[in-house]
Amino acid sequence: MTDTRTNPTATSLKRHPGGCQCGAVRFEVELDLSAPVNRCNCSVCTRRGISAAYVKPDALRILSSPDTLSEFRSGNSGSYSAFCKRCGCECFGAGFLEALGGDFRSINVNCIDGIDPATLTYLYWDGRHDNWAVGPRDTPWPVHP
Ligand SMILES: [Zn+2]
Repeated sequence: MTDTRTNPTATSLKRHPGGCQCGAVRFEVELDLSAPVNRCNCSVCTRRGISAAYVKPDALRILSSPDTLSEFRSGNSGSYSAFCKRCGCECFGAGFLEALGGDFRSINVNCIDGIDPATLTYLYWDGRHDNWAVGPRDTPWPVHP
């Protein structure tokens, strides 16, 4: 399924610079920060506590050298998270989900320069139970059934 709340119109997109804490990883991403960002209850997202905006691959431009990044891959999904080798901040990731329209990049919006998480609105996914087809909702999903 495609949720219009995670697919803003082209006219609302803006380019945002971002990066890790130490500055080794820098990127630019085109997205709409007035749209809700996503949180997930899967074991990885619960531990990391990131808030993600999902964008098409060409909306993310990585400005720093690939040498600054390391990746974590969970299972055989093909999804990965990329984080700074030096300071450990997870800035973005990638994967493929039909619910998100196929190939996507996942931007940790907390790594966007000057972001104030208090000004964002959130949607919640039930990744813990692989419940992607249901789509997001406005309140957190439980970790335990
Ligand atoms: Zn860093």
